[in-house]
Amino acid sequence: MRYSTLVDCYCRLEKTPKRLAKVAVLARFLEETPADEIEQVILLLQGTVFPALEERKIGVAAKLVSRAIALATGRSNDEVEATWKQTGDLGDTAAQLVSTKKQQTLFAQRITVSKVFANIRKLAEIDGTGSTDTKGQYIAELLTSAEPAEACYIVRCVLGDMRVGAGEGLLRDALVFAYYPKLVQLTVECIVCHAQQPVLPQCVFCNGELVQTKKGRVASAESIVELPLSDIDMIDASTEKVARDIQNSFLSAVQEALDIFNDLPLVARRARMRTVHKLLDSGLVPGKPIKVMLFQKVTSPEEAFATVGTPAAVEFKYDGFRLQIHRNGDTLRLFTRRLEDVTAQFPDVVDIARSHIRSHDYIIDCEVVGFDAQKKQFTPFQDISQRIQRKYDVHTMKKEVPVQLIPFDVMELNGQTMLRVPFVERRTLLASVVHEEETLIELAKQLVTDKADEATEFYKLALGRGTEGVMVKSLTAPYKPGARVGYGVKIKPTMDTLDLVIVGGEWGEGKRASWLSSFTVACRSETGDYLEMGKVGTGFKEKGDGLSFSTLTEQLKPFLVKEERREVHIKPMLVLELAFEEIQRSPSYSSGFALRFPRLVRLRTDKAAQDCSPLSYVQRLYDEQN
Ligand code: AMP
Repeated sequence: MRYSTLVDCYCRLEKTPKRLAKVAVLARFLEETPADEIEQVILLLQGTVFPALEERKIGVAAKLVSRAIALATGRSNDEVEATWKQTGDLGDTAAQLVSTKKQQTLFAQRITVSKVFANIRKLAEIDGTGSTDTKGQYIAELLTSAEPAEACYIVRCVLGDMRVGAGEGLLRDALVFAYYPKLVQLTVECIVCHAQQPVLPQCVFCNGELVQTKKGRVASAESIVELPLSDIDMIDASTEKVARDIQNSFLSAVQEALDIFNDLPLVARRARMRTVHKLLDSGLVPGKPIKVMLFQKVTSPEEAFATVGTPAAVEFKYDGFRLQIHRNGDTLRLFTRRLEDVTAQFPDVVDIARSHIRSHDYIIDCEVVGFDAQKKQFTPFQDISQRIQRKYDVHTMKKEVPVQLIPFDVMELNGQTMLRVPFVERRTLLASVVHEEETLIELAKQLVTDKADEATEFYKLALGRGTEGVMVKSLTAPYKPGARVGYGVKIKPTMDTLDLVIVGGEWGEGKRASWLSSFTVACRSETGDYLEMGKVGTGFKEKGDGLSFSTLTEQLKPFLVKEERREVHIKPMLVLELAFEEIQRSPSYSSGFALRFPRLVRLRTDKAAQDCSPLSYVQRLYDEQN
């Protein structure tokens, strides 16, 4: 495929703000992509040449690219720098200078997707003396044959700054639209260029009028599993709702494959081959991490049983960190919940797994806890968490902070994928291969019961042994990677809260105009700076008992330092204890984190601003949540 075809797609995506229109653009492009190039194309669409799990990075500095542009366009380095200053973007600089190149090449040799892909990949492989020059030559080689728009995107890809916005979610939707049967109810066709697309106001490709697509094979949500989907282009459902259900089932199939394989190019290739319903057939491969199953929080055994059904397995909830152990013959690798390879940091875990798990082929889900064998006590989470990042002194750390392994699930065993096997059977299989030894490796303590009072006793026992609480798991459920589906729940006594200091606010509107009705809150950095984490306006009273907007406004008024229309800056003085659903990463706030659904618990009159939660604690809670 010519690189210009891909560049055409980038340009369209960049000009198209609407999500559904982007799906249409991507889907049509994917339909035209040859099978043997799909993997490269998917990576380049994401602005990279390495799959997500590869640690290799392109790693080229802007300065080097700027010199490569000079080399390719016959300009001086100063001229390139000057244009760069003027455009503010090195991609645009490349495009501009290529279009006014002194010696115009005739584009005799049009560049291909494979050539761009290969050259950019080589950049990560070149090392040692002279490597900078060689890298520059590889980039210049591409730019010499590139047209202006091509040059722009080559540069952006090399710099890892694609900005096209083809994220995983968008590509997943496009894969479904491109390669799965389309739903009559959810598809329209342009009367001018005949492009099929999701229901949009106007054709994305030529602005032509759109009409409902012709009829397809009649199907219901139930019959879909029986159909040879790879042979069918259009499906006609009885209603739009049924059509949506069918489409959602396609989307879930692709999402599930993504959660398991963490490899969008591979999933795309399988979808492209239209072995649609066989996306998962090849099974799991030990060595490739999978997203782990997640657990919802409930507050009582009764609620737990209502969610997972009875009888259920109640297990100790150990306070450590999650680890997937993968063994493939002699190779053993350890991955965290974030799919980072931490094998080197935990030689002791590797040894325990080799000697105490009796199989050479498995993927096992565990908790790793700090354990003091002499005192027979768990050690604090903070101690072992240091070991995750620590790449040096590994053997000293191993002695200072010994760990215990608590296996609780198995996803693959002896060549068999276990994801669809009920939990009760998975646990039996796990028990059959794990050779327990006190203080080193023990299966998660478990009680199977349908009685809430027994579960409550077990919960108390768990707390008494220094664990965080219990997990309650459905006995019949499959293992669903990456999802918080309610196949298991957690019960723990403490609600995680953060104490955040108010650093700003916003005046309300209407009847709230005289109050501050939302408050910007911050945690503190190690150096004592306050770092914003978002706004909170929930949990305050309008009036009456409890902390009201008006009382808090009065307390804050002496500390207002600046006002800009409705926004105010407030000297950090008052600390709020906040509960929340989840901590998320966020580039919008200076802390790098934001709270989902924050709500007031209480005003912490006992805390001064500098006593608010430190960023490291926010990071820890973020790390701990699934
Ligand atoms: P939380 O971190 O509070 O969301 O609780 C879920 C985490 O508890 C999981 O990701 C595991 O790391 C941990 N955990 C501890 N014991 C178990 C267990 N028996 N089964 C499953 N997860 C457990």
